[in-house]
Amino acid sequence: MAFDAEAIREQFPILKRQVNGKPLVYLDSAASAQKPRAVIEAMTHAMEHSYSNVHRGLHTLANETTEAFEGARRKVAAFIGAEPNEVVFTKGGTEAINLVAAGLGASLGEGDEILLSEMEHHANIVPWHFLRERRGVVLKFTPVTDDGQLDLEAFQSLLGPRTRVVALSHMSNVLGTINPVMDLTRMAHEAGALVLLDGCQAIAHKPVDVKALDVDFYVFSGHKLYGPTGIGALYGKGERLAALPPYQGGGEMIGAVSLETITYADPPHRFEAGTPPILEAIGFGAAIDWLSGLDRIAIARHEHELYQHVRERLAGANWLRVLGEAPDKGAILSFTVDGAHAHDVAQILDRYGVAVRAGTHCAEPLMKRFGVTSSARASFALYNTHDEADAFVDALTKTQAFFA
Ligand code: PMP
Repeated sequence: MAFDAEAIREQFPILKRQVNGKPLVYLDSAASAQKPRAVIEAMTHAMEHSYSNVHRGLHTLANETTEAFEGARRKVAAFIGAEPNEVVFTKGGTEAINLVAAGLGASLGEGDEILLSEMEHHANIVPWHFLRERRGVVLKFTPVTDDGQLDLEAFQSLLGPRTRVVALSHMSNVLGTINPVMDLTRMAHEAGALVLLDGCQAIAHKPVDVKALDVDFYVFSGHKLYGPTGIGALYGKGERLAALPPYQGGGEMIGAVSLETITYADPPHRFEAGTPPILEAIGFGAAIDWLSGLDRIAIARHEHELYQHVRERLAGANWLRVLGEAPDKGAILSFTVDGAHAHDVAQILDRYGVAVRAGTHCAEPLMKRFGVTSSARASFALYNTHDEADAFVDALTKTQAFFA
């Protein structure tokens, strides 16, 4: 049965609004997805009925809120096939990668190698550069082919006896490429390296089972998964989290503190210093409940159809350059328009109510790889419709005419 995007849209109040007198066509979900009523109501309900700080509470509201917060952790864990104590709440994908890099970095030194790729988001580059600057580790980058895939032969040859960590995006936020992460993880493990996958994009588009992937760490953000901002998750294999030193210090992450010594709590609490993002975790859990009730395979097919439709309608556009045409890719269209800066393209599309992102997409090395300084990006989500795909193509065609 075809996926009913029109019915789904009804659950997203914001999608009813107009922009510049036109119906909003929101094609920026790769940056942040809109929120269904289920998420909005779960957070509002918590604030109106059962809110307090979590843990150590001896009163009813504290206990209820703790149960809701830990319940959200169980939902996130079940969503990715992990155990609850393997899920650390962070403020997003970025913080999760920083946590892992800082923790692993403590035992890395001069000449140890970290293998990344040219298609990484800055969130999966900069924390490793810190280790280059501070600990003398060597960063290596898997090249990207012209059609936007990782060069697997090069990846294999870059793995070596000094490779300690392989950190890669599961799906590129620019090219849409879905990387063959099973194979990459196996190759990395054979070389003795730990594997971190940046799942910020992939998890919104496909089911993820961290045990089947056999990765050591998997990170993602709530806000790209129809949940709130300010919350993300770090999955770490039990033994990996147990071996990782704490990230930030403060309340709730200790075993005991005296003036002379400290001991730490077990994971995941060891990595959650201070008052956590409680309402955000509850909203995150609600988003996962909501998404789990939908047919995710049908959603992926729907998103892909929208992408294909746009791609086919633009097939003859000789003024358009698409970045990333990998055979396995999600519904992200990054492009440049001849003679127009990507920022101008985005601003003119906005006049037609069409929201796309433009710039480097926090992926400057990738922009350089493709010889561009910026690109525009239309990203499709489950609530986008064929009519919207057409509205985008029509608006883009008029935008191009403006510059021609
Ligand atoms: N990695 C990828 C692939 C992303 O798309 C993003 C968000 N643009 C991030 C990491 C960082 O996520 P956040 O900003 O939510 O921490």
